[in-house]
Amino acid sequence: MKRSLLVPSLLALVALAGCGQEQASKSGKLQVAASFYPLAHFAEQIGGEHVQVTQVLPGGVEPHDYEPSPGDLRAISDAKAFLFNGGIDPWGDRLRADMEKNGVIVVEMAEHVDVLQNTAHEHEEEEHGEDGAEHEEEHDHGPFDPHFWMDPLSAKKEVIAIRDALMTADAAHAEEYRRNADIYLEKLNALDRQYREGLASCAIKEIIVSHDAFRYLANRYGFSTLPINGVDQEEQSARAIAELISVAKEKHIRTVFFETTASPKLSETIAEEAGAQTQVLHTIHGLTTEEGRSGETYLSLMERNLVHLRSAMQCQ
Ligand SMILES: [Zn+2]
Repeated sequence: MKRSLLVPSLLALVALAGCGQEQASKSGKLQVAASFYPLAHFAEQIGGEHVQVTQVLPGGVEPHDYEPSPGDLRAISDAKAFLFNGGIDPWGDRLRADMEKNGVIVVEMAEHVDVLQNTAHEHEEEEHGEDGAEHEEEHDHGPFDPHFWMDPLSAKKEVIAIRDALMTADAAHAEEYRRNADIYLEKLNALDRQYREGLASCAIKEIIVSHDAFRYLANRYGFSTLPINGVDQEEQSARAIAELISVAKEKHIRTVFFETTASPKLSETIAEEAGAQTQVLHTIHGLTTEEGRSGETYLSLMERNLVHLRSAMQCQ
């Protein structure tokens, strides 16, 4: 039903794009639109001075279930390339056909990474078979986990896909895009090494996180996550929370993570009940205004996450 609202407004915007185009050619830069922070940031790293990136979602908002406003979409109506994640930003899927018809290069990250299916709650439904129907409704999320960027090696695949899109959209600067991408890919390799070494020898192999956003990271580096809320931030039942508290006690988990863009309340309650402390684990869905101002980036937040993980998991 949202489709019928969005598509005509995009068509109207494309028709109006004439006034925007003048501005675009004035700046002389390749106009790139990106759904939310990590994609916009990667595009900026690759594009450098030749690219102007417009991030559709404002920094501090939760991308799950976000619907862009007409103003958000107007800002991207003269983009030559459009980057979206898949799964977390279904509105990107709805814009895709129209954009491609208008010659825009569209890249969906889900088509370039190895996706994990959304099976996190399956065994839980089995355990509570009697009220299975209710659970199914509660966990009605997309077919796959969209948090690819949290794994540095999946992030590399995104960077390569974005690089290729920029090289196609603006062949005149292709070699610079390739060079910039190589530099950033090397930084992601270094981040991967830090994680590999930092999490190689840990006493605790399970962490409690505020929503189910860390499975790509956990799979890559050999630990597992117990999420308080689901992949799309859907809330767990009181019984599931009580179970989480007893698991925390049983496994001597001393840290319960929370995230900056959601309420820490449930994490605090679980930590209190389990005799644990709380700590931030950033999902990097977006940067708050303060984080942006203080120069935080994908890499700095990933490095801080590693420090917090090493402490929670008691790594040597
Ligand atoms: Zn998320």
